[in-house]
Amino acid sequence: MAEQEEPQLWQTAAPVEFVPHIDERTEAQALLISTRQGAGYEVAGGQLGHALMSRATHLLMDYSQSACAMRYQIDGAWEQLPPMDREVGDAMLYALKQLCLLNPADRRSAQTGKCTIKAGKVKHVLTVQAQGVASGERVLIKLEPVEVPFKKLSDLGMRDKMIESLKEQLNSDGTVVVVTAPKATGLTTTWAVTIDAADRFIRDFQSFEDEENPEPETININPNYFGGETGLTESELLRKAILKEPDVILFPELPQPDSMELAIEQVEKNQKQVYTRMVADSAIGALVQMLPKYRDSAGALVKRISAVLCQKLVRRLCDQCKVGFEPQPQLLKQLGIPAGRVAMLYQPFVPPPIEQQVDENGRPAPIPPCPACNGRGYIGRIAIFELLCPGEQLQAALMKTQDVNQLSQIAKAEGHRGIQSEAVLTVARGLTSLEELKRAFSGK
Ligand SMILES: [Zn+2]
Repeated sequence: MAEQEEPQLWQTAAPVEFVPHIDERTEAQALLISTRQGAGYEVAGGQLGHALMSRATHLLMDYSQSACAMRYQIDGAWEQLPPMDREVGDAMLYALKQLCLLNPADRRSAQTGKCTIKAGKVKHVLTVQAQGVASGERVLIKLEPVEVPFKKLSDLGMRDKMIESLKEQLNSDGTVVVVTAPKATGLTTTWAVTIDAADRFIRDFQSFEDEENPEPETININPNYFGGETGLTESELLRKAILKEPDVILFPELPQPDSMELAIEQVEKNQKQVYTRMVADSAIGALVQMLPKYRDSAGALVKRISAVLCQKLVRRLCDQCKVGFEPQPQLLKQLGIPAGRVAMLYQPFVPPPIEQQVDENGRPAPIPPCPACNGRGYIGRIAIFELLCPGEQLQAALMKTQDVNQLSQIAKAEGHRGIQSEAVLTVARGLTSLEELKRAFSGK
C-alpha cells in the first residue's frame, strides 16, 4: 500500500469565498473566473479558511529559494506553521495578488491590496502587503472582521468597581476623558466600548474626524469630517459644530492646539465634555505626552482631565485546561497580594515530555491537546485597565515635571493603582498567568 501523504493545512479547512473590490459585477466575475483557473486559488481559499478557523489575525509568509515559511499571529503571539512547498506557495500568492488587484508577476516592489473573504456569513477584509527582500519575498496578510463583535467593558475584562467609576467620569459635565493604549493593541475597540458605556441617549455626541481617516460607524454618534475634500480645517469644523452645542466632543486623534483651546472653552464655560484618544504606554505616560502639545491650554486642560483610561492586552488562560497551584507566601509578597487573599493562582497546562506520556503499564499514551485551545494554553485576550483620576497634587505636579516615576509616586499616594498592580489582580482572578504578564510587559 502506498504511504499516504500527510495533508497540507490548506487541505484541512473549508475554503473561504473571495469577493474582489471591484464595483463592476461582470469585471469582478471575470477576475474570479480567471483566478480559479490557476492552481493557487484552491490553496489560498483553504489556507485562509484554516487561518480563520485557528483564530489567526495575521499570516506571514517568507519566501526563500526552496520553501515558503508560514506563521500565524493568534491573540497577539506569533506561531510557526509547517512550511509550504515553494511551488504551492507561489501559486497561492499569485492568486491572492490577482484577487487583491495587485500585479502577480511582480515579486520585488512593495505592493498592498485588499479584497473581502467570506466564510459562511462571516466577512473579513483581507489586506495583502508584499515586498521583495534579499532572500525572496515577504508577505503579510491581515484578516480583519468586517463587523466587530459587540462588546462591553466587562467582556473586555474590566472589573466592576472600575466600570462604576469610569461611567461616573464619562457622565460628569465639564470634564475631559482620555482613552489610551500602547500601539496596535485594541485601542479602537476600547474607545468604541468606552463611548458605548457613556450615557448617550439624552446627550448629543459629535465626533471630529479626518475625512481621509474616518472612524467605523457607531450608533448615536455623529461624525463630522475635516480635511480631504471638505476644504475645512479641524478648528473651522469645530467652530461651526459648537454652534449646535454638542454635549460631548469626541476626538479620535488628539486635536490640534487651536481645536483643543476651543473645546476646553466649551468645557469650562458650558460644562461640556471632551473625550479623546491617543497611543501611550500608561496613563501617566499619556498625560506627559499630551500636555506639552497644548502649551497655551495645558493649565486649563490639566484641571479638567477627570480620567485617563489605559489598556493593555494579555492572553486569557484557557478555562478548560489551566492548572491551579498554591502560591508560595514569598511569591504573593513579591506581587503585593496580602496573605490569605488568594488561595490559588493559575498557569497554562504544559504537557510532560513525550517519553513521560505513558499509561500505568509504561506504554506510550500521548496526551491529546486540549480541544478548546488546541494545546496553546490560552484562548482569546483580555484587557488590563488602569483608570487614573488625577487629584490636586498630581495636577500641580503635571505642570512642573515630566518625570514619569515621580508623577507615578504622587498618583500612588493619591490612591491610584498603576497598570502593573491591576495586572496582578488579573492574575489573582485566574484570568491570566504570571508568565503571560512577563511576556506582555516586557514588550514581547
Ligand atoms: Zn485549553
